[in-house]
Amino acid sequence: MANRIPRVAVREQDPAIRATNFEEVCYGYNNEEARLEASRCLGCKNPRCVNSCPVHINIPAFIHEVAEGNLAAAASIISADSSLPSVCGRVCPQETQCEGSCVLGIKSEPVAIGKLERFVGDWAIENASTLPLPEITPNGHRVAIIGSGPAGLACASDLARAGYDVTIFEALHAVGGVLVYGIPEFRLPKERIVAREVEAVKRLGVKIETDVIVGRTMTIDQLLDEQGFDAVFVGSGAGLPRFMGIDGENLNGVCSANEFLTRANLMHAYDPDYDTPIYAGKRAVVVGGGNVAMDAVRTARRLGAEAIIVYRRSEAELPARAEEVHHAKQEGIEFRMLTNPVRINGDENGWVKGIECIEMELGEPDESGRRSPVAKEGSNFNIDCDVVIMALGTSPNPLIKTTTKGLETNRRGCIVADEEGHTTREGVFAGGDAVTGAATVILAMGAGRKAAKAIDEYLKSK
Ligand SMILES: Cc1cc2nc3c(=O)[nH]c(=O)nc-3n(C[C@H](O)[C@H](O)[C@H](O)COP(=O)(O)OP(=O)(O)OC[C@H]3O[C@@H](n4cnc5c(N)ncnc54)[C@H](O)[C@@H]3O)c2cc1C
Ligand code: SF4
Repeated sequence: MANRIPRVAVREQDPAIRATNFEEVCYGYNNEEARLEASRCLGCKNPRCVNSCPVHINIPAFIHEVAEGNLAAAASIISADSSLPSVCGRVCPQETQCEGSCVLGIKSEPVAIGKLERFVGDWAIENASTLPLPEITPNGHRVAIIGSGPAGLACASDLARAGYDVTIFEALHAVGGVLVYGIPEFRLPKERIVAREVEAVKRLGVKIETDVIVGRTMTIDQLLDEQGFDAVFVGSGAGLPRFMGIDGENLNGVCSANEFLTRANLMHAYDPDYDTPIYAGKRAVVVGGGNVAMDAVRTARRLGAEAIIVYRRSEAELPARAEEVHHAKQEGIEFRMLTNPVRINGDENGWVKGIECIEMELGEPDESGRRSPVAKEGSNFNIDCDVVIMALGTSPNPLIKTTTKGLETNRRGCIVADEEGHTTREGVFAGGDAVTGAATVILAMGAGRKAAKAIDEYLKSK
């Protein structure tokens, strides 16, 4: 029986070797492995995996095509719901979404849906020239998209398919949002994967203008009133880092994970051919437990530092993807759980020399449902280090809000928008991290797609 086959293990770079390079950790399945893994799927009539996928990809249908060796058909099924399968197959938290609900997971291991999606996405990239483009009938309406992250790209794809003339305006010189400036090369290759999935979006007719900061170069009002756009989607993300507000955060050697990762990824600081400075020190402490913290600590490790995670809750509450935590441990990262920094100590020259922490214990659940950490009085101790990287979450940049009439934000600085993406300003829609605060790639894509539908309905009703 198909479900007696054990989950097919995926090949990966040896941990000791990969901790010294920036090449991709996971090699993915080859054709034979993918077909064997696909044959494990039971093709459920009421597939729980689909209900748990935020964009509702027809998972059993695409997996059936993989098992049959029909990869063009598999790619076409996925592309109906996702424009970034190679990205999502690599970075989605499958264990809490599709794979977390797979019926096979009840008694054994779930189908490796993420690795199969990645396999199909990579195949589609390699065979892009052979895949048919959808027939598009232009409808004469122009839509501006602010930000080229997953929310903006997903919104742009759907609108282009529906016949809209779409232009993405991106502040940075590179396209992809967090996919290019945040998530490291060893998890998500930029040229081989991100750039080529962006190319597929461009093939639908989407135009992308980089180095345009909406709110500085031009405003949303100008896009609507002077430049002839009929609607605007704001997918500007949440790129503003938070700090703890403790003593010593201004010392040399302290930075946000956002800055550290941007230097490494977008500005290629790890590559000797680039001049971008980056300082990982001899012993780097990364504060936080999400994907951003895992990426920062593994980057510091690869730059030669002894690297430590400090997290105030226990391992069970770590918000990072399980695979990233597993990989970080394999690479020799030290985890200090139930530990919270209270002060960063410096030397006489203003450089970090250590971080004073306090032990924590878990108390009653807070509004997030997780047990809240409570400090154990008198348990302070010091960790020697010369670098501290803060990975405590991010908020949206206020620029769009402060330069757009009638656009409301909430107390966290997030744009107020309903489920479909309507904001408080007519003709302006929003989604992704700009609305929810820092979340996930697939949720941002889902929000972009919903907004595309709402924009289509809005413009058809006008
Ligand atoms: C280091 C890191 C690791 C992560 N790891 C994962 C993971 O493993 N799995 C996962 O699912 N999620 C992960 N996430 C979260 C995920 O990447 C985000 O939730 C997602 O990228 C949000 O998409 P978005 O399109 O809303 O915003 P973004 O990806 O942030 O894109 C917004 C874009 O808008 C541009 N922009 C901003 N302001 C303006 C302006 N005024 N004018 C023009 N352009 C503007 C920005 O430059 C950016 O390119 C991670 C995030 C980080 C930072
Ligand atoms: S729940 Fe699991 S077995 Fe059922 S269709 Fe989805 S992937 Fe296949």
